[in-house]
Amino acid sequence: VASLEVKPEPTLVKAGSLEVGSGKCGVIAGPCSVESEEQIVQTAQAVKAAGATALRGGAFKPRTSPYSFQGLKEEGLKMLATARDETGLAVVTEVVASEDVELVAKYADVLQIGARNMQNYRLLEAVGRVDRAVLLKRGPSATIDELLLAAEYILNEGNTRVMLCERGIRTFESHTRFTLPLATVSYLHQKTHLPVVIDPSHGTGHAALVPDMCVAAVAIGADGIIVEVHPEPDQAMSDGYQSLDLPTFAATMQRCRAVANAI
Ligand code: PEP
Ligand code: MN
Repeated sequence: VASLEVKPEPTLVKAGSLEVGSGKCGVIAGPCSVESEEQIVQTAQAVKAAGATALRGGAFKPRTSPYSFQGLKEEGLKMLATARDETGLAVVTEVVASEDVELVAKYADVLQIGARNMQNYRLLEAVGRVDRAVLLKRGPSATIDELLLAAEYILNEGNTRVMLCERGIRTFESHTRFTLPLATVSYLHQKTHLPVVIDPSHGTGHAALVPDMCVAAVAIGADGIIVEVHPEPDQAMSDGYQSLDLPTFAATMQRCRAVANAI
């Protein structure tokens, strides 16, 4: 169902202020985790002013260690909804379990399926049955064909608003947290009508590498980028080392716009 043979024209996914695909490049920015109302509202205002078209922020966090911060759960979802009320930005947030889909859908415009859950088929079916756009992240050890098959689980339940996200894969290279294959964009554009979003934050794991990868993603025609941004990356409760501060995000957006209008 995701194949270009079935639907030859690219799909535009819309969710509130976010438009991704068919020539529209969406910019989803915000912290890894929602930490407080002040943090999420301040970030939302700053990323909007810099040109972001949607706000990200995790309320249910899938953490490698059970001893790490797990997210503010429904309180965090409410803070995201407040940030949307303040800025008009669509809210993108992760859902980690099928039993939470209804709750998260109550507050979110886009349901994010995290890399660890790409092959949680019951969860994929559950998000396929709600009227919310879905950002499906590639598993760090999944092939592109497995990503496309995961998308089919969602599409087959009737939800047509699916975005694919390359967030880096596990390789032998240890200088970066994951290896970010930007060729996924070109490859997927030749295989599927679904839009492709790049996540340079998880893809590199280093804030210093994120701006260049944002610019590169826009240059090769990615349909969107999702970028971790935090007002005080050093104080972040998760993924601070790969989060841009507010001025660096604004400068990165300027570079992205220059590339988008380059010729
Ligand atoms: C995230 O977006 O913060 C996240 C946990 O991403 P991933 O599932 O790609 O690791
Ligand atoms: Mn993160």
